[in-house]
Formats: sequence, C-alpha cells, structure tokens
Amino acid sequence: MAIRLQMLTEDPKEIELIERYWAVDESGQYLEKVSALEGIVEMAQGVTLASFIRQRCNAFDENQVCPKCAGLVEIKNRSQAKKVSQPSIKLCTLCQEDQDAIALEAQKAKAAELARQLTEYVRKQSTRTVDYSTIADRQVLLLLALDRAVTPRLTHGGFTVGDCRGLAPRYVGDFLQQLREAGLVLDDPTKARPGTYYWEGDEIWMFRDQVVYRLAPDAASRSADEVIRSLQDRVYTDAEGLFTLWLDYSVADVMRYLGAQCALYNHELSERELEEINSTLRSALETYSVSQLWSVVWKVVRDAASLANREYYNRPKAAATIPGKIRRNLEKVQRESIELKAWSRPEQHPAGTLGMVLGEILGVDENTSGHRVSSLVTWFTGQACSPTVEAELHEPVRELMTIALAHDVGSSVMLRFAELIRAGHDVGSAVEEIGSALRS
Ligand SMILES: [Zn+2]
Repeated sequence: MAIRLQMLTEDPKEIELIERYWAVDESGQYLEKVSALEGIVEMAQGVTLASFIRQRCNAFDENQVCPKCAGLVEIKNRSQAKKVSQPSIKLCTLCQEDQDAIALEAQKAKAAELARQLTEYVRKQSTRTVDYSTIADRQVLLLLALDRAVTPRLTHGGFTVGDCRGLAPRYVGDFLQQLREAGLVLDDPTKARPGTYYWEGDEIWMFRDQVVYRLAPDAASRSADEVIRSLQDRVYTDAEGLFTLWLDYSVADVMRYLGAQCALYNHELSERELEEINSTLRSALETYSVSQLWSVVWKVVRDAASLANREYYNRPKAAATIPGKIRRNLEKVQRESIELKAWSRPEQHPAGTLGMVLGEILGVDENTSGHRVSSLVTWFTGQACSPTVEAELHEPVRELMTIALAHDVGSSVMLRFAELIRAGHDVGSAVEEIGSALRS
C-alpha cells in the first residue's frame, strides 16, 4: 500500500468508505471505481466524493517525499498519487507552511520598507522649496498653462497626468516631466492610491498614471495661488527658451493632426517613424506655421492612402513612405519657393491651455510662421535692443546706408526694409538681405 492514511473521523461507515476509496493492488491500481463508491454514504448536495473524503482523512503518498525533510507529501485526490517512488517538487505540509510563513514575513518587511522610504521621500520633499522668481521663462509659461488645465488642483490638492489632458495636443506627459525634472512639480505619495508605488526587485517602481502631483512649496512661504498670480507679472527675457517651448508645443499640434489623419486611413506608423516625422516637422516649424504643416501632412497621408490601393503595395508599405514623403515635400517647397496652403484648425482639435497662454503672451496662433514667432520672441524679450545686438548691426547698417545713398536708392531700400520686417524678418537678416541684393 503506497498511500498512508490519517483518519480524522471515527464513524465506522465513513472509515470504510475512505479505505475503499484509497485501496490499491500491488501494481498501484485502485481496486474500485469512484462511481461505484458514490451513494454509500449520504453527502450534502454539491459535495464531491473526493472533497468529502479529504475533509475526513489526510492521505500521504509513500512514493513522494518532501525534498526538504524527506517526510511524506500530502495528496488531495487519486490523480495526485504516483505509482513509482520519485522525488517530489512539492513540499510536505509542514515545510510548505514554514516556507509560506517566511515568505509572508519577507513580504511584510518589504511593505514596511516601502512605507518607510516613501515617508522619508515626503519628509525630504517638504523641506525643499523653490524660489519662483528665478525659474526659467519657459517653465513660467508651462506652469501658467498647467494651472489652467487642472484648475484648481494645481494649487489645491493634487492632480494626475490624466487631469492634464487639456494642457497640450500631445506629449502631455513629457511637458509634465519637464516640470518634474526642474523640481517645480513634486510627487505626493501620501495622496496616491494604495499600490501606486511597488517593489520591482530592489527598486521602487510606480504606476505613472496613478501618481499624484502637486506644486513645489514656495521659498517665500506664499500660498500656491499667490505663486501662480506672481508668475502672471513675469517680465520675459529668454528668447531661446520661449521659442523652444513654442516649437515643443507646435510640433505636438502637428503630430496630433498626423495621428488623426493616419487613423482615418488606417495607416500604422512605428515609434521610430513617428520620431523621424517629429524631427522633420520640428525643423520645418522654424520656418512655417502649424496650419501650413497641417496641409503638408494632409496631402502626404492621402497620397499614401491611394498608394495602398495600388498593385504591389499594401497598407504597411504605403504607411512606411509617409516619413520620406513629408521630408521630400518640404524640401521641394523650400527649393521652389512654393507658397504652402494653410488649413484651418479642426474643430475637434482644441489648442490646449499651453497654446492659449502662448497666444496671449506672444500674440501667436497656428497661423503664425515659425520665422515670425522667432522675430516676435526676440522683440518681446527685448534682446533686439540689447547693446550687443546694436553693436553687431553697426557696421552692416553703415555699409548699407552708404551704398544706398551713393546709388541714390534710399527710399526703395527703406520700403524693402519695411516689407521684410512685416514679413517676419528681424532687423539683422533684413539688413543682410538688402545689402547682398545691392552688392550683386
Ligand atoms: Zn518537509
């Protein structure tokens, strides 16, 4: 007999049933069929014979020994028994209980360590403050836009990345990340749902979507509302920073349009293709407007759709032509000085609060060319009048005026200068362009 029984019942009828259930011949075959044993003892409805027996008897298989203590391994039913002796993967009941207890202890210790580290993190953060008068211009604009997108949660309570959807047309997480990296927006583990932070090996990981953020405390101890109000009076000086933020925002506005157009024609683009398009569009935005690039995207995506229907083409192959087509299209436009058409903003694509704040502060929108935004930003931040810029203009302007007067074309030079400024050129490039035209 390879099965050792430990009776938990004293009822002779039940004992007899149990012994018959587990009885085997020399070769390990069960003597009776389970179906033959049903109905001998009355059982409650829904109780199977195996579970009825399990409740009244522990069965141990002599053919399976615990790898840890060499004790017999408990089996639950006939199919778990082995006909020949073999090492068991399963532990015996006692060893399993010991192991579970150790695992539970370790788990509790890990949970306690997580709580301790998060408390320490919160304590450290509460001592860090920000002097908001020294933060970069682009960060000021981002905070003003964020406040509008999640109002009043930036200054009261906390917010999640999902709450920030209204901030920008795309890449909302990246914009938020810029503020986190600058230490202006902090994680607040005390407000996050349980389970948001967890162990992955020896590292603490988090579910990004569940993280709750808040504004970093002010060095001057002003309320968050007061901080945001003070940012509204900001005097901007960082032309490059503002232009970069405009580019970040505008490329998001074009990429969302691309995404919607591709979805319309079932074009699927890979992460790498999207990145390639993003770079192309970003550099095109230094010259063109968002609405002009919408028209380029519209044309290219439609061309790819008609390509997909052609022989020897399929949808993935056609979609793969989109990055190259956008690039070639823009190169042709530049080479042949083609005037790009401008699309109007689709109703379902709002500008987002960052677009609104940029519009209010710089007076730009989707129809403003990157070239013009660059000049506007330079003018707005006052760098055009800075001593170095003036000093750099001194020589070319003197040369231009000397040539103009010598040829008696002063008035036409001035008219051309005004025209170039209106078209978005800055003073330096306008002077350079007229100068080179006069010299040639
Ligand atoms: Zn054991």
